[in-house]
Amino acid sequence: MSAARLRLLPDSVVGRTALVLVAALMISAAAAVVLFTIQRQEALEAIGGRNAAERVSALVTLAEQLPPQYRQDTLSSQDTPNFRVGWGPQPVALDNENFGLAAYVRSALEQGLDGRDIKVSTRPGPLLGGPATGIGRGGGGRHHGGGPGMAGPGAGPGGGPGGGGGRVIGPSLRVSVPLTDGSWLNVLAPLDLGDPLWRPRFVAPLVIALVLVTLGALLAVRRATKPFATFAQAAERLGVDVSAPPLAETGPREVRQAAQAFNVMQGRIARFVQDRTQMLAAISHDLKTPITRLRLRAEFMEDDDQRTKMLADLAEMEAMIAATLAFARDDAASEPRIRLDLASMLQGMVEDLNELGARCSYDGPAALVIEARPAALKRAMANLIDNAIKYGGCADVTLAPGGGNALVTIDDQGPGIPSEARERVFAPFVRLETSRSRDTGGTGLGLAVARAAIRAHGGDITLADRPGGGLRVSVSLPGLEG
Ligand code: ATP
Ligand code: MG
Repeated sequence: MSAARLRLLPDSVVGRTALVLVAALMISAAAAVVLFTIQRQEALEAIGGRNAAERVSALVTLAEQLPPQYRQDTLSSQDTPNFRVGWGPQPVALDNENFGLAAYVRSALEQGLDGRDIKVSTRPGPLLGGPATGIGRGGGGRHHGGGPGMAGPGAGPGGGPGGGGGRVIGPSLRVSVPLTDGSWLNVLAPLDLGDPLWRPRFVAPLVIALVLVTLGALLAVRRATKPFATFAQAAERLGVDVSAPPLAETGPREVRQAAQAFNVMQGRIARFVQDRTQMLAAISHDLKTPITRLRLRAEFMEDDDQRTKMLADLAEMEAMIAATLAFARDDAASEPRIRLDLASMLQGMVEDLNELGARCSYDGPAALVIEARPAALKRAMANLIDNAIKYGGCADVTLAPGGGNALVTIDDQGPGIPSEARERVFAPFVRLETSRSRDTGGTGLGLAVARAAIRAHGGDITLADRPGGGLRVSVSLPGLEG
């Protein structure tokens, strides 16, 4: 339920803001239309009501000045299709309304014809025509037969059933004024409701305004939300390269402040990393001197067996420290990224190893350009290939582009790494027990260095079983060109 509702909302800030703006505009346009309609209705009623009142009061004056035998003809001569005039014993307006046009007409009439029981109504309803009200009695003079269906049936004296009334008519102004002799002067004027509001002349400006405001809103919000994309990119880049150039601190105040904060954060992270690396380098370096002294002392040991073991341990320690120093130096150097051909880099490495007699192969395109730090990347690849040869007897390197990344796999035919150890082997100085023999002796830093370098490129390494036995190391590297 809520998921379905969410899907109706646009996903982007631009879409949502535009939706809100358009909704607000439509509501305000609707309010304007309502106000305008009310205003127009009132203006129409004021004009129409005053006209009608003036005409009716002139007719009343005229009718009362005439002797009764001339009234019928004279009033009939004033009968037009849009302003029916009749004279009869009954009023055409049966009830009285106290609002709108009817009230307006009545109050205007009462000013001139004080004290009479004037009836005015605008409600649709049955028309009591013919002799009773004089309306539709036959019309006269110029407009004989005018007013479809009104004059016709009631044309003859006495009227027919049609003239007798009962026919329902639409909204019209009905005015009945009692004359001094008790008869009624009746007026029936169809109400002119004005043009409908939805005609093009009225709707077009609204639609044009709606389209313009929507377009303007989309453009403005697009511009305003652009910094979001820039921030996302900057954060992405920071994960790959702490020493990336800072964000431009331009644009509106909030964006400038956010960019500033981001730059300060990036600076702190860079300093933090640098401090750690320097400390690592300092410790490794300072350990060299005591180890050298220890080695000198060991040379003087009497017990041959113990001396050999001690010197071996010291050699191992020295190797570890040298590797740590190299790792720290690499990182501190933070090489610039350049465009390099990963395919020819791998091919060259494989050829060099083949010359040294290692079982090694390359399968992949002849050229594949990515953006990377050449020395760091080469060291990472060398560590992985070296492991495959050392522990797996051979290294089959493949390269392929995929999903904007360069995908490298390094297969061997050795014992592989059990799945529960696959995360652990990446930790510095971790070596699996089985490989602790002298001939494969390493420091346990190779995978740690490789993963740090690959991750600093924004990529990652995963270990898996090679189909058919052995280890498969998969490396994905972003920054593929073209
Ligand atoms: P260094 O690379 O620093 O000389 P190392 O090779 O022992 O020493 P890593 O490269 O980090 O260190 O490897 C850690 C451990 O993971 C290795 O000691 C080995 O036990 C295991 N390992 C690495 N690669 C393979 C492989 N291709 N097949 C089997 N085991 C492996
Ligand atoms: Mg290794």
